[in-house]
Amino acid sequence: MTSTDDARTVDARAVTEAAVSTAADLEPLFQTLSAGLAALGAGLSEDQFPARGLDLLRASGFWGAGGETVLPGPAMLRLMRLVGRASLPLGRLFEGHVNALALISAYGSAEQRAGAAQDIREGRLFGVWNTEGQDGVQLLGGSAPDTTPLTLQGAKTFASGGFQVTRPLLPVDRRGERQLVLLRADAPESELRAVPGSWQPLGMGATGSVTLDFTGSRVGESDLIGQPGDYYRQPMFSAGALRFCAVQQGGAERLLDEVRGYLHRLGRGHDEVQMLRFAGCWTALRGAALMLAEGERLERACLAGRVSEARLLAQVDAVRLATEDACLALLEASERAVGARGLLEPEPFSRLVRDLRMYLRQPAPDAARLRLGQWVLNDWTPDDWTPDDWNPEDD
Ligand SMILES: Cc1cc2nc3c(=O)[nH]c(=O)nc-3n(C[C@H](O)[C@H](O)[C@H](O)COP(=O)(O)OP(=O)(O)OC[C@H]3O[C@@H](n4cnc5c(N)ncnc54)[C@H](O)[C@@H]3O)c2cc1C
Repeated sequence: MTSTDDARTVDARAVTEAAVSTAADLEPLFQTLSAGLAALGAGLSEDQFPARGLDLLRASGFWGAGGETVLPGPAMLRLMRLVGRASLPLGRLFEGHVNALALISAYGSAEQRAGAAQDIREGRLFGVWNTEGQDGVQLLGGSAPDTTPLTLQGAKTFASGGFQVTRPLLPVDRRGERQLVLLRADAPESELRAVPGSWQPLGMGATGSVTLDFTGSRVGESDLIGQPGDYYRQPMFSAGALRFCAVQQGGAERLLDEVRGYLHRLGRGHDEVQMLRFAGCWTALRGAALMLAEGERLERACLAGRVSEARLLAQVDAVRLATEDACLALLEASERAVGARGLLEPEPFSRLVRDLRMYLRQPAPDAARLRLGQWVLNDWTPDDWTPDDWNPEDD
């Protein structure tokens, strides 16, 4: 574990082990993290893997978030938003790390959860690598009639973090079902090869989301997390999108703030054309943020049995849609507002715009829109859910 501040590290560990659950406990950690991210500033704005940002998170008390560090839902989304505001590549990597810990917490055995907690204490970076092409990863062997050792064959695309992730969680095909495998990527039994030239993206270059071939990697029965099909179990599978939406919204808030500063530096902070442009953008972003908060409340209500899974999943699709639309509108307005001059380096806009445009590309966006429309026309009723249904004791 790397740390630049011993005192803060000790505090953070104590908090982690106590499995924090109150907003008051978390406030000092948020303040420290916020100041740390601000101090890194330019260190997070290069096209390089955000190692220093990850070190900051390792020392922050939030490294086990989603796993042993149990955060209340609003705090989790605040964390994602805060990191995304500092750096979208850092936010993407951290969101994958948290997602892996959440999946191991939900579906892993007691031994596997304890193993992940030890890995967290050692500062290891987790990730979830699901996306793949035609040559997706298969798990071969391990049981009759094929009793050869469990072996991986095939590749994953968009493997964020690449070789920096020493504990990737891989949903792989095993006899037609999806099985989660926690790979010890730095162990001698693991054979990872990056496909040259596989990561030359529009933006988010710093995440190093290469294509990795795992063919020949050996795993053990104890590396299999949960039962076949667990990865796709709802509502967890879809509701995880709330976290990436929070990261994206954080990135959008950063872009808006930077554009505002730039316009003021040019003496255009009171220009009416710009005012008209950003009134709508702010409203859409704010709407997406409120819808996200509502999504988090609905997730809790669903887990408590007060709201149906279908209602929650419709909300998740709505949050995705609202976030994508608000961010795209902001990107368009920002490009128009700063113009070509603003899109020159060293101004930050070309990188912020490219990163947000790239990170907005999430799986099957039109399918999400279609599902939501189907629900609206067939299942929604005007008294289905209103803010009055929110239980204040849940907040
Ligand atoms: C920076 C970055 C980091 C990432 N890191 C990871 C990671 O660590 N792990 C991971 O698992 N993934 C990762 N991903 C992948 C990500 O989760 C998505 O899977 C990926 O971005 C979706 O790609 P796409 O835009 O091509 O989506 P698609 O779902 O392919 O959508 C693209 C278009 O195809 C259309 N389409 C989709 N399916 C169909 C269909 N069946 N029939 C007709 N049209 C269809 C859609 O409507 C849309 O118009 C990352 C992505 C990015 C950008």
